[in-house]
Amino acid sequence: MTPNLSAGAIVDSPVLVLEGNILWQFENMSAFGAQTLKLQVEHGTLLGEIALDMSAAPPKGPRVVRREASVPEIHVDLSHLEMLWAYIYGWMVVYEESVQKVLLDPARVMDAETEKLIDRAHQLLAWSSSLRETYRPWPADLPSPQHYATAQEEWYGLKANLVFQKATAFLLSHERAHAALGHLDVIQSNSMTGLRLEMEKEADAVAYDDLLGQSLDDREKLADAWAVISVMLSTLYLYRDPIRALLPGGHPALHHRVAYMIERLALTDQHYDYYFSFLCRLVLQAVFPETLHPERQFDDWKDALTDALDRLDQVALAQAHGRPLS
Ligand SMILES: [Zn+2]
Repeated sequence: MTPNLSAGAIVDSPVLVLEGNILWQFENMSAFGAQTLKLQVEHGTLLGEIALDMSAAPPKGPRVVRREASVPEIHVDLSHLEMLWAYIYGWMVVYEESVQKVLLDPARVMDAETEKLIDRAHQLLAWSSSLRETYRPWPADLPSPQHYATAQEEWYGLKANLVFQKATAFLLSHERAHAALGHLDVIQSNSMTGLRLEMEKEADAVAYDDLLGQSLDDREKLADAWAVISVMLSTLYLYRDPIRALLPGGHPALHHRVAYMIERLALTDQHYDYYFSFLCRLVLQAVFPETLHPERQFDDWKDALTDALDRLDQVALAQAHGRPLS
């Protein structure tokens, strides 16, 4: 990646140790993806280098930039990579330790070390969610790809690294697809037409096929599923007002993208299908507690997610028609 060192740049970001992993994953997603990327670079329709914006500023998602007659280039914000890793690590610890393990063993007594693990994961999530307001450097004492306080944190950190590199490769592949499919004129005009929304869906579908192209079984799909779900849900951390994520903006409404990904994942084992439906429900209700009432109980996590998506649709509709939100 080519760093763009502007004034107020982030120094010593801990995610930079994963730069090689991200690029390797992107260049080796699927045989078809790798071949298309190679052809794009050879034909001058995409720059082989990715521009890394190191500004100490709130994160924005990756984008393809084409200036006048120059070759289109994928731009990534370092602050976005930091937010994404912290999101993945934080939710993975919180979901596994304070939700899944409790479901498996309701009588489980949490030891002090686990309580501390969960608390520190919450602190990291709070930091990553605060970046949308003002950028603050990664708190050096909290978990990061370069620092773990315990072996348990390191165990989760290594899992988060794999999911993070797949999530980032998905994002890069989505941008690559825009360039390959001739979407750039429409995207640069910034119009939110039906055509633009179709292009975003197409780019998501290509990125999905790049990552999960071969038909894998559920267990093999787990890290990929975590990656695509994290890509979708972490966009909530990009908006100062997360309701904006429910309206079609630069991309289709977030909850519709989530629904599409869950459908495409088509996990056959009910355990895994529930696992991701429940995760999506929890993240959405943490962000929209007034709409989704976290105290509500469901027997079936598939229903719980459908309920969340329906309610968020109503909120989005009300917002689009200028009605007050209830
Ligand atoms: Zn896009």
